[in-house]
Amino acid sequence: MTVLDDGDHVVVVGAGLAGWRFVEALRREGYGGALTLVGDESHRPYDRPPLSKQVLVGKWPAEHATLATDDHLAAADVRLLLGTPATRLDVATTTVHLADDTALAGTHVVIATGSRARLLPFSAGHQLHTVRSIDDVARLNVDLAPLEAESVVAGIGGGFIGAEVATALRTRGLRPLILEASERPLINVLGPEVSSWLEGLPASAGIELRTRQKIDDVYRADGDFRVLFASGDTLAARAVVVGAGAVPNVEWLATSGLSIDDGVVVNEHLLATDRVAAIGDVARFEWANTAGSELTRIEHWQVANDHAGSLAHYWAQGVAATKLLVPYFWSDQYAKKIQLLGHPRPSDDVTRVAGSSDEAKWVALYSRDGLVTGVVTLSQPRALMLSKHFLETPTQLDAALAAAPWIN
Ligand SMILES: Cc1cc2nc3c(=O)[nH]c(=O)nc-3n(C[C@H](O)[C@H](O)[C@H](O)COP(=O)(O)OP(=O)(O)OC[C@H]3O[C@@H](n4cnc5c(N)ncnc54)[C@H](O)[C@@H]3O)c2cc1C
Repeated sequence: MTVLDDGDHVVVVGAGLAGWRFVEALRREGYGGALTLVGDESHRPYDRPPLSKQVLVGKWPAEHATLATDDHLAAADVRLLLGTPATRLDVATTTVHLADDTALAGTHVVIATGSRARLLPFSAGHQLHTVRSIDDVARLNVDLAPLEAESVVAGIGGGFIGAEVATALRTRGLRPLILEASERPLINVLGPEVSSWLEGLPASAGIELRTRQKIDDVYRADGDFRVLFASGDTLAARAVVVGAGAVPNVEWLATSGLSIDDGVVVNEHLLATDRVAAIGDVARFEWANTAGSELTRIEHWQVANDHAGSLAHYWAQGVAATKLLVPYFWSDQYAKKIQLLGHPRPSDDVTRVAGSSDEAKWVALYSRDGLVTGVVTLSQPRALMLSKHFLETPTQLDAALAAAPWIN
């Protein structure tokens, strides 16, 4: 492969975390050529994690989440095209077509279009809320502002975003009611054991959680919302927020000829072709880990950051990262912090090595075939970081248990 030179033009599509961090990283790597960043939102690149936390609680104005300040933008020397979605990519000519008929002829293209909140096909349609963007939170605030204290807000889905939103709404004096389809929130992510340790958290934060909820519809009635359950029962709510996961933004690539399969399929260097790459939430990448390699898509803030840095380094220097990417995720919910290292499967074995659910503090190791695959902690940030090296080089569970860094 040839490294970038100053005669090149890199077009980055998607002005979110991954796209913006890539722009910054590429300049840090010394790239002096043309750089264009295209985004469909009207906002400058911003950070999403605060949206369901500080911003929704009302602690921060949304502008605090901005990543690309005036100074940063000037330093990055990037042409920023906002409010215009890309509609098509011609891979052979590395040309990105925009909705306003602009054609951006690049030499290299980075796909960083992220993911969007999954919508559910209910009658109330777009009057249901999701929390993915600054505009989503603004719309939600308009509907929440007139509500009296203890007004019921239904939260459909008790996963990470659902739990964070419920926590924020409770802090605002509302009465969030979480309606979860499965037998326990996060059971399909963290597995049966660890999800059971988390089950009591909503109640401890004064939030009602109802599990095994089969919802047939959500519709409007008398100025309110009604949630209709398969049982025929209904629930009245003043607002409804859906947290049902996310789907990758790949539709604009339908005619590109790229391999699309739950994301843009890319290799271990994040490349779909020599000159087209995908990073962040949208990338289904070949992830090298201590157990080997697997094709996966990971919706974590840290992964988007790391992808951006690795791709910039690879294209600017022709050198691939040698350190394994260790995915990191955190979630602030019910006044606790859940943290996760690695990318364990819900079917992996789990060993609790410190703490207990009663203390609402614990450390768990995940393992598969005796090899450590992940570390998950509740309100034990130091223990998590001390265990990171188990995921940087292959580590047998027995060796990790003997080393026990979480004791320190
Ligand atoms: C509310 C919320 C809270 C979160 N909290 C956490 C957390 O606590 N911890 C954690 O690890 N992760 C968290 N995440 C996940 C994290 O924010 C994402 O992993 C990260 O934003 C991914 O960055 P990205 O750039 O790949 O995608 P995005 O941030 O989704 O950015 C993609 C951008 O591309 C734009 N776009 C899409 N299609 C087009 C198009 N055709 N043309 C132009 N632009 C387009 C999108 O509108 C968006 O602006 C949270 C996410 C949300 C929504």
